[in-house]
Amino acid sequence: MTIIRSATRPIVTHDGLLARKIDARVLVIEDQNSLARLLGAMISERWGCEVRIANTMAQVKEELALDSHFYVAVCDLNLPDAQHGEIIDEIHQAGIATIALTGEFGEELRDIMQKKGVIDYVTKTSANAYEYVTNLVGRLHYNQQIKVLVVDDSRSSRALLKHILSMLRFHVFTAGDGKEALDVLREHPDIRLLLTDYTMPVMDGFALTMAVRNHFGKDKLAIIGISASDNPQVSAQFLKNGANDFITKPFSYEEMLCRITQNIEMLELIDAIQDAANRDYLTGLYNRRYFFHHGSQIHLDAKAQNTPLLAAMLDIDFFKKINDVYGHDAGDAALKHMAVLLRECFPTQLVARLGGEEFVLLFENLGAETAIQLLEKFRAALKAASVTFKDKTIAFTVSVGFTSGLESTIDDMLKTADINLYHAKESGRDRIVGV
Ligand code: GH3
Ligand code: MG
Ligand code: MG
Repeated sequence: MTIIRSATRPIVTHDGLLARKIDARVLVIEDQNSLARLLGAMISERWGCEVRIANTMAQVKEELALDSHFYVAVCDLNLPDAQHGEIIDEIHQAGIATIALTGEFGEELRDIMQKKGVIDYVTKTSANAYEYVTNLVGRLHYNQQIKVLVVDDSRSSRALLKHILSMLRFHVFTAGDGKEALDVLREHPDIRLLLTDYTMPVMDGFALTMAVRNHFGKDKLAIIGISASDNPQVSAQFLKNGANDFITKPFSYEEMLCRITQNIEMLELIDAIQDAANRDYLTGLYNRRYFFHHGSQIHLDAKAQNTPLLAAMLDIDFFKKINDVYGHDAGDAALKHMAVLLRECFPTQLVARLGGEEFVLLFENLGAETAIQLLEKFRAALKAASVTFKDKTIAFTVSVGFTSGLESTIDDMLKTADINLYHAKESGRDRIVGV
């Protein structure tokens, strides 16, 4: 039995640069140990999770007797002591999701697999099989955070789709017609995929698609239209009304799986591109563009609801000297260090790098006194810490100017904060100045 553990590698997710790992165990079952180890290493390296390897049915039994908490098993169908896919039953009984590895593929095998709830299969001989499996392992994990809505008036169609989506670990909601679907969406506006039938009472799939598109763009929510009609007009109308994709009933499980995954991956890709455009490359913090876009909304809300808002500008003291004495790379390391500390100290605040060594913070709905205490804690923590760059230890301080007056715009607030920052610099740096 081999255990592979690896250090966590940061994964860029659509939530930003947070390191996310899969905190669950994966079981790889494959009799060719070199292949098993290669696949296990790919999975653990990519997702930072624990992978256990078994080469025989007997080893699998041993492993499950020890601890059967695996969230997925990647499983060769032919093992020396179980040559006809018996392993699937073993895994199925333990309640573990299965991805099958197989030499070659036939209709019969597909049937057996579907009956036993195998999520997907890969033929071992295909070039990117292991990459595909590695991706799927992560996909299944992250699907748990994705909400999907199934809309169909037929109870059995709804149940079938719900079953497929649940196997893929999505968080599934259902509705019996378009109107019900809109109610569910109102309650869960973070639903990201909608699968809708065409013919339904009260409100059909076209009307639903059009209504949804009034509120959710294609970058926020994907719609897959479904219909039993072989009239090509139906698919065209779905797409014209704003659906991302279309599939005809009856569909194969495999096709549905591919379409769902493709649409979700498209949304994630868009998320990643939008995120990259909103972030500063060096520090991973939000950039000026995002700050002003998002900050002005926060400012408007605070004004409308008459809730407190405090804006603070932070500027590293004598930063130019760090560059001059230790080099530009050391300056970059200092900026990254500052960003890490900012994230740590202000996890719920909007933090951005405006440019150079200038950062900005927005405290929403927090009394000025508490906000100032947090700023003071940050100032002291930054002063006490230092950055090690190559073999040099670099210490530096920060000056802060803030304002809690809700001026006419967010720009005006920053101008006032900037004037106070200037006073902080003038009066000796390493301090916080407000009104
Ligand atoms: P003060 O205490 O008055 O704020 O002085 P300062 O030296 O911190 O400020 P000044 O504005 O004179 O210098 C800022 C320097 O920051 C100049 C610029 O070359 C440097 N800088 C701007 N962006 C970056 C960056 O991304 N990386 C590095 N290493 N340096 C940068
Ligand atoms: Mg400076
Ligand atoms: Mg400056």
